[in-house]
Amino acid sequence: MIVTKLNLLDSLPLTCSRTGTCCHGKTVHINPWELATIAKAKGLSTQDFVKEFCDWGGIKLKFEGAIGYKNQPSCSQYIEDFGCSVHEGRPLACRLYPLGRQIQHNKVQYIHEGENFPCLEGCPVVTELPSFTVEEYLQDQSTKRYESGQDNYLEVMQQLAEVAFELYLDNGLADSGSSEALEKWKTLGSFSPSELADSIPLEWREVLIHPAITNIKNPSEFAHQHVTLLLHKAQAKFQQITTLTQLEDACVLMMSLALHLAQSIGAHPHSLAEHWVETAQSHSN
Ligand code: SF4
Repeated sequence: MIVTKLNLLDSLPLTCSRTGTCCHGKTVHINPWELATIAKAKGLSTQDFVKEFCDWGGIKLKFEGAIGYKNQPSCSQYIEDFGCSVHEGRPLACRLYPLGRQIQHNKVQYIHEGENFPCLEGCPVVTELPSFTVEEYLQDQSTKRYESGQDNYLEVMQQLAEVAFELYLDNGLADSGSSEALEKWKTLGSFSPSELADSIPLEWREVLIHPAITNIKNPSEFAHQHVTLLLHKAQAKFQQITTLTQLEDACVLMMSLALHLAQSIGAHPHSLAEHWVETAQSHSN
């Protein structure tokens, strides 16, 4: 796979024509703030939106609509001859497309796969449209708040993983000589996205995916309130721990939350789990 990196001055030969070729056959992850935002745009509760339109426990949009571009099914939010039914609340992946976004060494990079823009093949009409710089394109798509939401949830994921580390390293689990918890972290990393979602008890999935937060305007505020809810729940539950088995269960649970959230922002649970196991091992020797 060729990945082409772009800087903000590169020119994109397109504006999005909204013909919907980009709304077929894709994988669109959504973090909990994006879920709240898209559900609001649809006029549904997050619970109802997930039931009807999401896979993997609420972190991916279903693509099971009518077959269209390249014989691929459309997104659950796509309406033929109209376009996106939740345009105002569409997630970051849709706003960025055909660009991807990655953070390396604390620097944001915008990328696309291959040497040619996929839109040139999917929507040849884009050649007749005005060119945008990457910066102008991002502004046109109002990505700022959504990029911030993504970065905020990266931090939430790290905070949950830190709790798993604390439970493992600072409470006697590592000292007990048992490697069970780390084996289970690895197993979680090898689960399919649905298996990982299903491995999380319902009461925790509820607070991870459907936090009771009504103000969704500011993603930073939303993520901050969300992690506070999660950490309070963990504190209330884990203060009752009296045995190593309960400690191990708590440690594995927190890791499953972190990995599920990782999936929701497009990170790879498998490599994260491997990395975190190695880190925990190196700190426990
Ligand atoms: S959410 Fe809207 S823009 Fe995104 S893939 Fe679905 S229909 Fe297309």
